[in-house]
Amino acid sequence: MPHHIEYLDESPYAAEVLSRAKITLTDLDGTLLGLGGSALIDAKGAPALTTVQAIVEVNRAGLDVVVCTGRNRIQSGEVSRLLGWSSFIAELGCVVKYGRGEAVEYLLGDWPEGVLLPDETPYQAITRYGGLRVLAEAFPGKIEEHDPWHTDREITHVLRGHIDCAAAQDRLDTLDVPIAIIDNGIINPPKHTLVDVDEVHAYHLVPKGTSKELAIRSLLERRGLTPEDAIAIGDSATDVEMMNAAALGILVNNALGDPRVLAAAEPLEHVVATRGERGDGWAEFAHAWLAARGI
Ligand SMILES: [Mg+2]
Repeated sequence: MPHHIEYLDESPYAAEVLSRAKITLTDLDGTLLGLGGSALIDAKGAPALTTVQAIVEVNRAGLDVVVCTGRNRIQSGEVSRLLGWSSFIAELGCVVKYGRGEAVEYLLGDWPEGVLLPDETPYQAITRYGGLRVLAEAFPGKIEEHDPWHTDREITHVLRGHIDCAAAQDRLDTLDVPIAIIDNGIINPPKHTLVDVDEVHAYHLVPKGTSKELAIRSLLERRGLTPEDAIAIGDSATDVEMMNAAALGILVNNALGDPRVLAAAEPLEHVVATRGERGDGWAEFAHAWLAARGI
């Protein structure tokens, strides 16, 4: 572990931020949720109430938590509702629900007016402009839609495979609408139809100029808050990016095994790590937050 990533329970700076933070932005998969996407297990996958008990205590204290995830609107909304939270950021910062009763908004970054046809979603537009086609042509057999997670999406595409991201970006840059490709790390899909690929990555296609960080800044502004009021907790490189919009970034311990996460966190002074992994790490953070607030 790089020397500058302190543990949460050893950092005086973390304690200071926890004592005043008003809101936490949390990733779901690998952070709040454990293996298989369950909240009702411990870090190793055994049935446990550790995480949900921590959630109940945070909710009882009236502390504000907002899910910030790559999952789609339907999943993010249902998970949030189940956990008692009224806002969420979905599809990597492109879909935001600012509060109970408010309509979901799309954040489309650099996309100019007039990109979409009537009643067309940005997701459909990415297909129509050739985002999937140019990748299939450039990398035959090496990339495909991440079935079944590619359904019910409104803006971003989720793909899997193993390709040269810089070369993929060059292909996307030939299209008439600005699209970025993001490598979201190694996954273990139970099935795929890729050819001669043994390390499978998840990739997202997103409108250029969008990010979890910008969505968080937008949500904080709506609440009359600033990054100084916020904590962000996650386990991936895209989660480290959202920590740029928070006074304190927290990596659950399982994140420390990913060199890309460590590289992303390297320049950041305000990132600490939990000792527990996944939901156990989340509960560790929640108890630290409550204790620092004197609850
Ligand atoms: Mg994650």
